Amino acid sequence: MSMRIFLKNCFVKFMDHAALPLYGAYELKNRLLTDSKAAILVYHKISDLEDGIDAFWNVSPALFARHMAYLAENGFNVLSLDQLCDHIARQTTMPEKSVVLTFDDGYANVYRHAYPVLREYGFPATIFLTGRYTGRNRLYWWDRQLTAEKPDMFDEVRTLAWSEIEEMQSSGLIAFGSHSMSHDHIGKLSPRRMEYELGTSRAYLERKLKRRVRYFAYPGGIREYGDVSDETARVLARSGYELACTSETGRNGLRESRYALKRIGMGRNDNIQLFRAKLVGGYDWVGYAQRAFHRVFKSPW
Ligand SMILES: [Zn+2]
Repeated sequence: MSMRIFLKNCFVKFMDHAALPLYGAYELKNRLLTDSKAAILVYHKISDLEDGIDAFWNVSPALFARHMAYLAENGFNVLSLDQLCDHIARQTTMPEKSVVLTFDDGYANVYRHAYPVLREYGFPATIFLTGRYTGRNRLYWWDRQLTAEKPDMFDEVRTLAWSEIEEMQSSGLIAFGSHSMSHDHIGKLSPRRMEYELGTSRAYLERKLKRRVRYFAYPGGIREYGDVSDETARVLARSGYELACTSETGRNGLRESRYALKRIGMGRNDNIQLFRAKLVGGYDWVGYAQRAFHRVFKSPW
């Protein structure tokens, strides 16, 4: 593990511990004042896998099921990205306890472990697909590293097949967005490459899905790493996207910039205490600490 990843994991762990005591304060505040910010959660792999440099972000199927049960039992409004988009476009107040579920990278383990749970509760979600990886038995570089050591892990880390995508899409619960063509850091690419990553990925996915693709999730998704820029927002708008999600931590009000929505990363340490703190705003301040950290460590690896 590189020093930076180690430090990053320590940083996130520290934030997690700090967020817990804040839960009570935030919940009290939400009882006294209307809180109509939406938390967009971002999951990656839904898997028991403990290996790989991204293992910190693997949420086990059992933990994921507990998260969804918590939302159902505690009166959260799980909105689709379409509904969130409508609220922002029309500037209509979002219901209290609004949550949006998203999954990045388009892993097959989401179909296997998350989709049955989402169906059970009738929760909508959006999965962000990468054009050159989806449906091709092609692994992301960090997963190739893992399967080089453990070839039997292939099925656990492979991306979705088109048949699995079609099945989820036809349920009406699951929508798909673009996560670019090649999962590169797009903010600093030449105009032509950026057009390919944003415009071409949208056209490609629309052809495959036979549906409009309205949303984008930035690979990496951190401004300080060069993933998000004013230029990407302009190209996204020109390419016809209506919203874009970053990896910057926080929840979203109606005044949020449409092409720089904040999200809350979900990981293996998100027990129910931390999960509920993240939902009610107890993690929003982490955005400031995250920006400071990224200014020091300007590269993700
Ligand atoms: Zn990604």
